[in-house]
Amino acid sequence: MIALVARRVRALSTSGALAATVVGGAAVSAGWNAAALLVAYFASATLVSRWRASDKDAATGRVVSKGGERDAMQVLANGGVFAIGCAAAAMTGGEYHALLLAFALGSLAASSSDSWATELGVALGGTPLGIRELTRVPAGTSGAVSAFGIGGALLGAALVALVALALGFGRELATMAFIGGLSGCAADTLIGAFVQERRWCDACSEPTERVTHSCGVRTRVTGGVARMDNDIVNLLATLAGGVISAAILA
Ligand SMILES: [Zn+2]
Repeated sequence: MIALVARRVRALSTSGALAATVVGGAAVSAGWNAAALLVAYFASATLVSRWRASDKDAATGRVVSKGGERDAMQVLANGGVFAIGCAAAAMTGGEYHALLLAFALGSLAASSSDSWATELGVALGGTPLGIRELTRVPAGTSGAVSAFGIGGALLGAALVALVALALGFGRELATMAFIGGLSGCAADTLIGAFVQERRWCDACSEPTERVTHSCGVRTRVTGGVARMDNDIVNLLATLAGGVISAAILA
């Protein structure tokens, strides 16, 4: 039902709604508090991506795809690791149960932290510093940092941690989620800077992350690892957030 509502308000595409139903089902298997945490994450990430959306379009010179409908790949890249952690936690008892919950919460906090960092960074951060180039790069470039982006990363991770605390996950798990979330966001920046493929549109002479540019021309790879797109980077970053969160708890 929540996926249907999200489809209605164009937060998800049809494939995204189907994927979100699977992720939501996995969350419910771990408990209603895990499902409520997922809804809080998703609602806040959607709202922050829509906040000042036209300003962000102007800052990045493109229609902000992140503010639009999320498709199945984006849903799984952001929520797939959380879903696996929740389903595994539901099937396990004892000490492994807590570890798997920390894994799930850390991955969700990483996704939240990255979303907030991107949205606040693009909306308020001006021209960020590319950590690979070590020069200023256009707003919205993967692997770039700004003060507002870092502030967003802190807020996004804290949001998941505080909601987890309010939902009864306990102080220890909430703390792990916060640390894992920030670590995952840092991993996202590093992977985005040094591993993610960089593409170029010859027609517009400008860098892009898209295979087909907004002008309709197919872009070419100019750096990074081919096929390492934003979705795969997000997947690896949420995995890193989950592993770090569980590893510290262990
Ligand atoms: Zn173009």
